[in-house]
Amino acid sequence: MPDQKFPPLSPITTGLKGRCPRCGEGLLFAGFLKPASTCESCGLDLGFADSGDGPAIFIIAIVGLIVVTLAMIVETLFHPPVLVQFAIWIPMTIILSIALLRPFKGIMIALQYRNDAREGKID
Ligand SMILES: [Zn+2]
Repeated sequence: MPDQKFPPLSPITTGLKGRCPRCGEGLLFAGFLKPASTCESCGLDLGFADSGDGPAIFIIAIVGLIVVTLAMIVETLFHPPVLVQFAIWIPMTIILSIALLRPFKGIMIALQYRNDAREGKID
C-alpha cells in the first residue's frame, strides 16, 4: 500500500512527466532510462522500480500499428519504390520507439508503486 501521507497521484500523469510516483515532484529517472535511486523531493526509495519488458510490449504494439498503417496508406496512395519506404519507415520506427520508451517506463514504474507490486508479485 502506498504511503498514506501523500495524496494518491495518477500513475499516468506522474509516469508521463517522469516524476516520483509518490510526491509527483522529484525526478524519476537519473539518466534517459535509468531510474533514480531515491526521490530528491520526498526521499522515496526507488529501488523497487523494475518495469521489465512491460514498456517494450506496449511500444511494439503501438509503434507497429502506427508504422504499418501509415506504410500501407502511403503504398496505396503513392506506390513509392521499396527503398523510399525503407528510408521513411525504418527511421520512424526507431524514433517513435525511443521517444515512447521513457514515458511508458515511467508509467509502468508508477503503476508498480501504486499497486505495490514487487518482483512480479502483488501483495
Ligand atoms: Zn517523491
